[in-house]
Amino acid sequence: MSGAKRPKEYEKLIVKGKRCDGRKIDELRPLTIKVGVIKRANGSAYVELGKTKVYAAVYGPKELHPRRLVEDDKAVLSVKYSMLAFSVNDRARPGPNRRSTEISKVVKHALEPVIFLEEFPQLNIELIVDIIQADAGTRTAAVIAGSVALANAGIPMKGLVSACAAGKVDGEILLDLNAPEDNFGDSDLPIAMTSTDKKITLMQLDGVMTKAEIQKAIILIRKGNDYIISKQIEALKGVYQ
Ligand code: UDP
Repeated sequence: MSGAKRPKEYEKLIVKGKRCDGRKIDELRPLTIKVGVIKRANGSAYVELGKTKVYAAVYGPKELHPRRLVEDDKAVLSVKYSMLAFSVNDRARPGPNRRSTEISKVVKHALEPVIFLEEFPQLNIELIVDIIQADAGTRTAAVIAGSVALANAGIPMKGLVSACAAGKVDGEILLDLNAPEDNFGDSDLPIAMTSTDKKITLMQLDGVMTKAEIQKAIILIRKGNDYIISKQIEALKGVYQ
């Protein structure tokens, strides 16, 4: 984020209201959602948000190991987010690290509120998210894909969860930052929301924004999330119709 020295091509990230990838200020990157893409999982999804590409697979409900993690009155949602070695410019080191542990945790908290976990006491619902290509917004893409994969696995849910970010770049609030905007901008605010009551289940802020800027960002994010939810529903319907 902020302060990074910009290469010449990104000296100006907004020119005459257009962004470096041609989008308008309030425009999401092109979004593709595919359902049931992994045969051996109970549920799965593939999400492409611009150049960010993500697979999510769900296993379970199944026995939870180690047993000390068992919750007597509900299922445990375990989330494992990983970046594949070739997903970023500098080869990503395999295995968990601080960032992947943090993102696994926030994706879990973003999704849990819509799942009827109490229907599966003592069991485990496992969500694995692999980032194939990272170009900013991998945690929001992970929430989008994870939510659809859970639905595809037949996990009882109150609704879906969608997610997108907005951030401040060169004094403007932009929807859904891409990698140059994320790297050279001032701040990034990813937000996840439930489809039913639009409750916020994930909100993180990287960088600094004023209250007014956050309010402006939330208006953009709400619109973005409404569109994302419509695409999630369309993708799920496509499989069952
Ligand atoms: N990134 C990277 N290498 C890393 C971690 C991140 O190149 O080890 C890039 C990648 O494009 C990622 C972006 O930085 O999507 C922003 O990462 P951040 O941690 O802010 O999370 P994200 O926006 O992906 O949810």
